Amino acid sequence: MYSLGLINGLVYRNGSLTHENIYISGERIKKITPNKEKYDCSEEINCEGKIILPGFIDPHVHLNLNLGEFISTDSYESGSIAAAFGGVTTFIDFLEPISFVSEFKEKFDQKIEESKLSHIDFSFHTTVGNYKDKVDELAKISLKHGIPSIKLFTTYSESDRKISDKKLKELLQLSKVENLLILIHAENDNIILNSKNYEILSQYESSRPVDAELKEVEKLSTLIKETEGRAYIVHLTTGTALEFMKENYNDLLGKNLFLESCPQYFWLTREVYKKDDGRLFLLAPPLRSKEEQEKLRKNIDLIHSIGTDHCPFTKEEKYRYSEVSKVPKGIGGIEYSFSLMYNLFGTSIMDKFTINPAKIHGLFPQKGVIQEGSDADLVIFDPNRELTIDAGHSNSDYSPYEGIKVRGIVESTIQRGQFLVKERKFVGKNVRGNYLKRKHYNF
Ligand SMILES: [Zn+2]
Repeated sequence: MYSLGLINGLVYRNGSLTHENIYISGERIKKITPNKEKYDCSEEINCEGKIILPGFIDPHVHLNLNLGEFISTDSYESGSIAAAFGGVTTFIDFLEPISFVSEFKEKFDQKIEESKLSHIDFSFHTTVGNYKDKVDELAKISLKHGIPSIKLFTTYSESDRKISDKKLKELLQLSKVENLLILIHAENDNIILNSKNYEILSQYESSRPVDAELKEVEKLSTLIKETEGRAYIVHLTTGTALEFMKENYNDLLGKNLFLESCPQYFWLTREVYKKDDGRLFLLAPPLRSKEEQEKLRKNIDLIHSIGTDHCPFTKEEKYRYSEVSKVPKGIGGIEYSFSLMYNLFGTSIMDKFTINPAKIHGLFPQKGVIQEGSDADLVIFDPNRELTIDAGHSNSDYSPYEGIKVRGIVESTIQRGQFLVKERKFVGKNVRGNYLKRKHYNF
């Protein structure tokens, strides 16, 4: 007798959709059978006409991100509810940036405390600012806490978050030895410091131009090749940088270098900065031109993983200061990320929400795959149902995608055998997420 059976659905496994039944016992997937082979279970859900996917993994979210005066508006509670409506059953947040190893414990404990409210499973990336300490000791303490990834910035020198060239190289060298993944926010600091127009909303994109990303990606690719390090570039925004890598460093992709992009760069363009409410779309790196977006879409196959960089603020916070430089940068997006990308790319996008992030971020095969023995994190997706995007379940009072019509939405989300969302209603009040100690990446 199984606790839950999902029958007659189209199951996404090994890159294709097949008619199968999934039987769950407690927190795990116990048996997958052909449609005709049926077993008794306490609860049976008929998934006729629905697609069943592994619970999505969002490797890039910012909950309670502290920017001084502003704190990103989703907590682990509201953020995990919005996530569940989007089919996300695991997200990875970032510890606050540190400069010395001695700061690690406090940042880790702080996130563990905040995350007690989470309804979905979660993990963290270590983050460094202008790091001044020994890199091997940072690796040691991170790994001890189940974190095989360290995030750094190549920009933001004005807030002392930029890594030095010396430490960047040391971290990449170490990543090879320790099999760590170095997550990189790749924008060229000098180009940004020398750019103008950063107070003109309609020109915001030109204050962090395409060239800032391209030049930094060029520099990083050389360095990764030289050190044989392991890196993952977060929130890539430009088709130009992608094409550059395809032409010059194709041999690194999927081996030493992994790429992440986000739904906003596929759906929104810099034209929004000319609108009256343009400030609601301020984020870094910025939205790009229509041409860049088309190039990005054309090269989607080069992207390994889709994260959201979910970091919403409220309208009041976005409007509090008229100066563009004072507006908190970041937008939400976790709730509709999959629907939006599915609408553009269909089934070819599925691995980038499931098995790829699971392998890259050391969660496979517990997560990211439908197979016997894996966690019963499952999404029941209705490919035919239509929805007009609204503000959703985030604590923010708007969504940057509001008004966009999508076909194909998450109907139910199951976390380790328990429903979080059932037929578009949140039922997971008593479901608690676990902290996931991650292993080394294995792609
Ligand atoms: Zn981010």
